[in-house]
Amino acid sequence: MNEKSPLVYAVDDSSLGRKALEAVCGRAGYKVRSFSSPEEAFPAFNDALPDLILTDLVMPGMDGLEFLGWIRSRSALRDVPVIMVSSSAGTEGLERALELGAFDFIRKPYEPPEILARLKSALRYAEVVRELRHAATHDSLTGLANHAELMRELEEGAREACRGKDSPRPFSFLMLDIDHFKSVNDNRGHPAGDAVIRMIADLIRKSFGNLVSGRYGGEEFGVLLPGYDKPMAVKTAEAFIALVSRASPEGLEDLRVTLSAGVATVGDGVACDLQCRDTVDRLVQKADAELYRAKREGRNRVCS
Ligand code: GH3
Ligand code: MG
Ligand code: MG
Repeated sequence: MNEKSPLVYAVDDSSLGRKALEAVCGRAGYKVRSFSSPEEAFPAFNDALPDLILTDLVMPGMDGLEFLGWIRSRSALRDVPVIMVSSSAGTEGLERALELGAFDFIRKPYEPPEILARLKSALRYAEVVRELRHAATHDSLTGLANHAELMRELEEGAREACRGKDSPRPFSFLMLDIDHFKSVNDNRGHPAGDAVIRMIADLIRKSFGNLVSGRYGGEEFGVLLPGYDKPMAVKTAEAFIALVSRASPEGLEDLRVTLSAGVATVGDGVACDLQCRDTVDRLVQKADAELYRAKREGRNRVCS
């Protein structure tokens, strides 16, 4: 949900219906954008995603059920609750709407306190789903994407890079592993080890903030580098491991660690395949193999 006030999109072909919804949402302190048809609402989804959608069921062009189908087909809107509003007396519309994934169904005419209570309940639900989704996709120690999420993003990135199968767009995957990390735990204790992992995650966020990164596993991290060919990826990785070698966690200024890195680049020993599943496996295998070569060759270095 937006930190300030929730943004609600209200779609109703009747101007009286729209005014009523605007009034209710406005009184609750929500921001409302109202539209006379789904078609009119579509461009707004490119500007801002709503926290909740209210839609009339019966409308002259695209009706509420078709609109609901459109909403449910968009991954960016998968957690946005939809409340269907209708004056139709039968239960058929209600059944279909709930079947198609509407959160709730409200009959017109409605009492403002009723619709408000239902709006609040839908927004609470959306908040819980957001928290659960975040917990399911992020690592609790570092706040970075977790392994599953990193792999999902890697598959998406590989698919994008391999779109033109014969001439893949540049795309590299960087795998980082802390050197001799076990000795940090053994000599300084696990809380100090945790502080090192958090520090590296913070440096990853600072250095690669606009890119997708994640905790691949224990003391291993991954960064997606779309648009980076091998020389660019290696240069970036070298700058990052140099940065880490100079840093210490807060309060542990004498503690230094180094990283080893493996780089894999689509098109450079990593072929594209149509499903992309194999491309992902090959990227991970190659980055892993290069990482272990960096370990063998003395650590604190990048291999590609
Ligand atoms: P190398 O240079 O070959 O990578 O050696 P290493 O000691 O870094 O690698 P090894 O795989 O032997 O040990 C990794 C250690 O990382 C073992 C494990 O206990 C520790 N570790 C994994 N996750 C965490 C964590 O969340 N916190 C802490 N403190 N330690 C962790
Ligand atoms: Mg390791
Ligand atoms: Mg290690």
